[in-house]
Amino acid sequence: MKAIATYTRTKAIMERHKLSFKKSLGQNFLIDVNILEKIVHKAGIDDNSFVIEIGPGIGALTEQLALKANQVHAFEIDGRLIEVLNETLDPYDNVSLYHQDILEADLISLIKEKAAAGQEVHVVANLPYYITTAILMKLLKDQAPIDTITVMMQKEVAARMAAGPNTKDYGSLSIAVQYLTESKVVMDVPKTCFVPQPNVDSAILQLHRRKEKAVDVSNEDLFFTLMQASFGQRRKTIRNNLKREFEDRINSGQLDQLLEQAGIEPSRRGESLSIEEFARLANTFDSFLN
Ligand code: SAM
Repeated sequence: MKAIATYTRTKAIMERHKLSFKKSLGQNFLIDVNILEKIVHKAGIDDNSFVIEIGPGIGALTEQLALKANQVHAFEIDGRLIEVLNETLDPYDNVSLYHQDILEADLISLIKEKAAAGQEVHVVANLPYYITTAILMKLLKDQAPIDTITVMMQKEVAARMAAGPNTKDYGSLSIAVQYLTESKVVMDVPKTCFVPQPNVDSAILQLHRRKEKAVDVSNEDLFFTLMQASFGQRRKTIRNNLKREFEDRINSGQLDQLLEQAGIEPSRRGESLSIEEFARLANTFDSFLN
């Protein structure tokens, strides 16, 4: 049988089920088997792998995962596609489908109940672009025992997540992701590999959860608030951005002292600070405020 991920088979499946692509759910389906095989390879999937897929669509990636993995658990929000998936994935008995919003899924219980001891757990997905960040933040914050996350997203979002200081892409998203994971872009994917074609190119980002967070932070909420405020208005200095955020708790003189104590020049911009410097600044603020 021909792979699902071809233009002709995808069109035929959609037509047979009288379906249209829902833009609101980020439905851009992959129609290039070579790219899919590369994704599965980069994700390190083998016959010991327990895989969670987000948004299987009509099963293009699911099929390639099923050919290599031990188990595949796929969550799809669109009920119309569940019917299609039951048909397209019928040849694969190692796939379980869930008609559920991934943001509502209890992955901790799923892994506990279904994964064998010692099995590696991987998330692999061509993510719906409208909620890429929300999905990644859920995966990272839930603390489910996931070894790697290998996901396709808009190229510029991947660049922001993996960016370092003093680049235009560096921002609070980069720091949030890098605080919890080691991440790298493993592959670019041109928009011609999808139907319908999106307006932008894509990239595959791979994230490995850190056993220990990248920096020691005494108050995570304060760390995130301070960091977001520092990027609030990118052209402003860190002093001006922080002054505005903390004006009800810290006066100008105190702010200057705290910056000096943390070794941060007040005229610098947020985008020049490394994650270590943000942590030092947040810990200095935390000791002062408590
Ligand atoms: N995996 C398929 C492929 O690569 O061809 C489809 C990928 S498509 C970019 C994203 C898929 O995610 C769509 O099938 C869409 O219906 C589904 N989706 C959107 N929001 C979702 C959510 N909150 N939870 C689960 N699936 C979702």
